[in-house]
Amino acid sequence: MIELHNVTKLYPNGTKGLNHIDLSIYEGEFVVIVGLSGAGKSTLLRSINRLHDISEGDILINGQSITKAHGKQLRLIRRSIGMIFQSFNLVKRSSVLRNVLAGRVGYHSTLRTWIGRFPERDMHLAFEALNRVNIAEKAYSRADELSGGQQQRVAIARVLAQEATIILADEPVASLDPLTTKQVMDDLKKINQELGITTIVNLHDVDLARQYATRIIGLRAGEVVFDGPVAEATDER
Ligand code: ADP
Ligand code: ADP
Repeated sequence: MIELHNVTKLYPNGTKGLNHIDLSIYEGEFVVIVGLSGAGKSTLLRSINRLHDISEGDILINGQSITKAHGKQLRLIRRSIGMIFQSFNLVKRSSVLRNVLAGRVGYHSTLRTWIGRFPERDMHLAFEALNRVNIAEKAYSRADELSGGQQQRVAIARVLAQEATIILADEPVASLDPLTTKQVMDDLKKINQELGITTIVNLHDVDLARQYATRIIGLRAGEVVFDGPVAEATDER
């Protein structure tokens, strides 16, 4: 469960990214955040994962405050949260397999594993993840040889190998064509349903949100202006 209590994010230049947000997202939900560019969608996801610090309020992940956590406790909370980005964020010149194994790095105490061999269990989890998104035959290809949609599925596999229980996807299909968009959204939905992974996806396309979400949250100027089941969501943002 993810809880935001009175969360405000002020950027150093004075812009209010989020303005007193209260939200609870429950285990296994598939939530889509919609809103125009600049509404605060990205700021919301980056706050949940603490990619930046918030200015006020508290965020709890399964009852633990990520706002106040530090050291090992912070690493453990972060490990349960996988991020998916618009630009895939893969190591382009590395193989698909190595990119997926990167999801395992947080489970080891040193970076040696990244340079050398990964334990058998890591390899098993990596291939299981690649199979789940149907891309195992590309394991030994360089990441930048894959199409955009394939690269995004590698990013999803990386999060699965990480054994994340929460996925935060920030405009994961914004750079993809309609067919590839469907494939990537289908994969996200599939792992949400099969593995019960709590999923929060930022989209600017309300129609797409309606097709996949069980709950839609609308943001405008850093505030929640809509929160409800898909049937009630309208184009008024
Ligand atoms: P969205 O993801 O919905 O497009 P963002 O979360 O990126 O919206 O942005 C919310 C608001 O915060 C916007 O006004 C944006 O200009 C501002 N903002 C985002 N990032 C920064 C930053 N690093 N510094 C200053 N302002 C920012
Ligand atoms: P690394 O993480 O060191 O890149 P890889 O096994 O992915 O490990 O790759 C080893 C080397 O081979 C790297 O220099 C990589 O750029 C190159 N390489 C890997 N796969 C391919 C491929 N399908 N085509 C061309 N070069 C590749």
